Amino acid sequence: MFAGCNLVLTLLIVSFVGQSHGFWPFTVSATTDAPDTVYADAGAKRIAIIGAGAAGSSTAYYLEQFANNSGVAINVTVFERNSYVGGRTTTVNAYGNPLEPVELGASIFVEVNAILKNASHEFGLHATESGTETEILGIWNGKTFVYTQKEGGWKYWDLAKLFWKYGLAPYRTQRLMQTVVGKFLKLYEFPFFPFRSLSDRALDLDLISVTAQTGQELLAKNSIGASFATDIVQASTRVNYGQNIASIHGLETMVCMAIEGAMQIEGGNWQIFDSMLKTSNTTTLLNTAVDAISKTNGRYNIKTSSEDSMTGETLTNEEPFDTVVLAAPLQYSDLKLEKGLLKHTPDEIPYVKLHVTLFTTNKTFSPSFFNLTTGAEVPTTILTTLPVDEVPEDPTKGVGSPGFFSISTLRQVINPATLEQEYLYKIFSPEKLTSEFLSNLFGTEIPKDLSAVKADSGEAITWYYPKVWHSYPYEFPRVTFEDLELARGFYYTSGIESFISTMETSALMGMNVAQLIVNDYLQLLEEKAEGETPAQAILEEKPKNEHVEEL
Ligand SMILES: Cc1cc2nc3c(=O)[nH]c(=O)nc-3n(C[C@H](O)[C@H](O)[C@H](O)COP(=O)(O)OP(=O)(O)OC[C@H]3O[C@@H](n4cnc5c(N)ncnc54)[C@H](O)[C@@H]3O)c2cc1C
Repeated sequence: MFAGCNLVLTLLIVSFVGQSHGFWPFTVSATTDAPDTVYADAGAKRIAIIGAGAAGSSTAYYLEQFANNSGVAINVTVFERNSYVGGRTTTVNAYGNPLEPVELGASIFVEVNAILKNASHEFGLHATESGTETEILGIWNGKTFVYTQKEGGWKYWDLAKLFWKYGLAPYRTQRLMQTVVGKFLKLYEFPFFPFRSLSDRALDLDLISVTAQTGQELLAKNSIGASFATDIVQASTRVNYGQNIASIHGLETMVCMAIEGAMQIEGGNWQIFDSMLKTSNTTTLLNTAVDAISKTNGRYNIKTSSEDSMTGETLTNEEPFDTVVLAAPLQYSDLKLEKGLLKHTPDEIPYVKLHVTLFTTNKTFSPSFFNLTTGAEVPTTILTTLPVDEVPEDPTKGVGSPGFFSISTLRQVINPATLEQEYLYKIFSPEKLTSEFLSNLFGTEIPKDLSAVKADSGEAITWYYPKVWHSYPYEFPRVTFEDLELARGFYYTSGIESFISTMETSALMGMNVAQLIVNDYLQLLEEKAEGETPAQAILEEKPKNEHVEEL
């Protein structure tokens, strides 16, 4: 993530280009019904999806396709409390100028991210090489640059230099990453897709062995030297997840080592999810929060509230649905659930509180901030790591002496008020940036109050946009992951975030849940055809899709 969680699945791809992985899910459906099967009396099943981020949009998109392929009639409504589609994938406009969108959340995906990549092709969205206009990449430990590289930046490590400095460690890391990623990619394939339990699949694919240990342990066990681990791998886990290798698990560490093939959609990645919803015959209700869910006669009652745009009055509504997909972390969804509704309530887990600060200025970094001599070249993208002897007591204070996770020069932009060229910067930090920090960084006086900066004010900062996210979970080692089905017909996508937290993995969970729902309906229809009513089947809470579990 210096442009996001970028590296994450990047690695996945790089090494796998050219191999046939059969990602594409349509060939792996576990259902067997002919595409034109008609269930005259089935009635359209009503499905409520809560959240229009990557997971919710992907659920809607694949539901439409899988249901059509299986001849199941569905009626899908997506509820989104924000005024926009995309959730943590969204842009803001530098200087308020729509011609200068910039990613505020998830900014990068990679070639191996089959769902995002294929969807962008299908929707005619233009993917560009992502990221930053990096001229010089530097890894800063709060005292000194432990690694610098001219040209190419983050995505194109200077392998010769890495080998020279770190010996076989880069090669070993690459090999390890390829093995781990190869296992992960099986989740897209028959017989591993679809899955009702991520814990079971992680076990089946021997991914538990990498989620059970820290990145540091995994690297050490694979004879990857501590200096490469600390300088390079940790810079990557910090920019992508705001976490150090001593606390983040091995799978997410490997995901962070993806460094090639990163891309982003021109104008904003959110367009993928917007297009998914627009092409999926779904009713999308923006500015509509789901406040409460209860159950009556086997159906879920969804209570919503929205604001009347004319009168400002709060409008409430309540409607029944057969199936619910909660496509957002439960702990941040402000949902009131009827007592006993869920068989299992997901644990509240700590999320990284990340300050993302975007701003424009015509200034460049001051060498003295980085202990460099006056006039020295300063890297334009700065990732951080910790000095070897610095061990944070608490992972949530892992930023350590550098004080920030990354600083990126994204691109040059034209200030619309002065028509002068300026730089667009992005900083990731665990705390709000102070004007003192910025003054030191640029070696110039930065106003104390940045809330009202203007493009034409003549101040050093000409546009300023701070945002605090609950960006992703602290990825502590673990061996089990949240259930997908919290009650019969009540699905949850966000458990995958403790495994890998990216747009692609949320979209994968959406696709998976879509297949499970269609399988559920097919099974109910089969049972009905055998003389048992679907209502009976629901009420009896029979285990469904056992054949899927057996695959
Ligand atoms: C700063 C930052 C950088 C990142 N960088 C990258 C990157 O480069 N690459 C990458 O792949 N990933 C990145 N990520 C992670 C990525 O954004 C997430 O993993 C992914 O977008 C999660 O998608 P989601 O649909 O699961 O959840 P969300 O995007 O959070 O969507 C959930 C949606 O549900 C809505 N909602 C919640 N409760 C309710 C309710 N009660 N009623 C109605 N609506 C509700 C929310 O408003 C939200 O829109 C980054 C995240 C952040 C914050």
